[in-house]
Amino acid sequence: MRRSTLHELSLPPPGILAEVHTFLRGLHVPSYRYHQLVTAFQRGAQTFHDVRDLPSDLRQQLISRFGLTVLPLEVEAVRTGEQVEKVLFRTRSGARVETVLSRYRAGWSSVCVSTQAGCGLACSFCATGALGLERNLSVDEICAQVVHRRWSAEPGGAPKSVAFMGMGEALANPNVLTALNVLTTPGYGGLSPRRITVSTVGLAPALTALTEAHPQVTLTLSVHSPFPEQRAQLIPLERRFPLEENLAILDRHVLRARRKTYLAYLLIEGINDSEAHLGALARLVQRRSRPELFHVSVIRYNAAFGADPSFRAPAPSKVDDFVARLNRQGIGATRRQQFGADIDAACGQLRAESLGRLGRRRPAGDPQA
Ligand code: SF4
Repeated sequence: MRRSTLHELSLPPPGILAEVHTFLRGLHVPSYRYHQLVTAFQRGAQTFHDVRDLPSDLRQQLISRFGLTVLPLEVEAVRTGEQVEKVLFRTRSGARVETVLSRYRAGWSSVCVSTQAGCGLACSFCATGALGLERNLSVDEICAQVVHRRWSAEPGGAPKSVAFMGMGEALANPNVLTALNVLTTPGYGGLSPRRITVSTVGLAPALTALTEAHPQVTLTLSVHSPFPEQRAQLIPLERRFPLEENLAILDRHVLRARRKTYLAYLLIEGINDSEAHLGALARLVQRRSRPELFHVSVIRYNAAFGADPSFRAPAPSKVDDFVARLNRQGIGATRRQQFGADIDAACGQLRAESLGRLGRRRPAGDPQA
């Protein structure tokens, strides 16, 4: 990703920088002052006090209006494992959100961001949902997880791809569409939309809006069961927006965008790993408008997801076998690479520990990630 150089920009992205920009214009301050301020924060300033290029009375006015800083996230806790780093950020309002950085051996990294503090959709396999929704994250809070200074020291530079697979249902937060605009605008995030993946459990109206606004963004729809009754037990949203409705949207999307689209399948021992499940899942893909553009991403259930304690992780060999049998039926399928088993890298766990509402045995997580 090209590091954003707001210095070059005529207009700031929506969010607090836009407010600062407007505020300075209201004071009739020369435009280079805004650039000095942005550059100082890019270079490591933590508060307005650190922006020494600005006259002290202007710094004081900014503090009176915005508080000590424009930085929306502060690092509260970090857990590091092999190829993965999980960071718990605290927002200015005190909400806690998690971000996971995965480092690939090829020398680049990817960041998995949260879109909500908590989640209101109550999927039965995910303890983030069990904690309920605290609030949607702002555009600033979403984008800051991607361009945070913490990642700038990475050997391969800033993250090359972004997955909206952390805490929360991305499509339940309208700020996500604006965040995508910011992240893909040259000079701000500067990311190719093809390097961004948005995962959803199936909020059909918002999925339609996303496919229209950002047709090149990669989409992942959580399936987890091909049977409506069972899927509704795993993902209650099925009752409002059935899988078939979401798949119909993706059928139209792949015809228009010609982009490969992913169907996530969380494999849970004894729950959705039977021959009947496999056959129905294969038929579901074969019925698609362009089956070759649908790829099944099989995810091994992990106790770190913190769901119903009766849920069990299948043996790794069972996951490989499930994938192989899908392949034999002509279905494009792979096992999703999961980093961080050594640190329970499912999103939401650090937050749950920080809130003290879940014990180590029952951490929160979003198995879409
Ligand atoms: S799986 Fe995603 S949508 Fe479902 S409760 Fe967890 S965070 Fe929310």
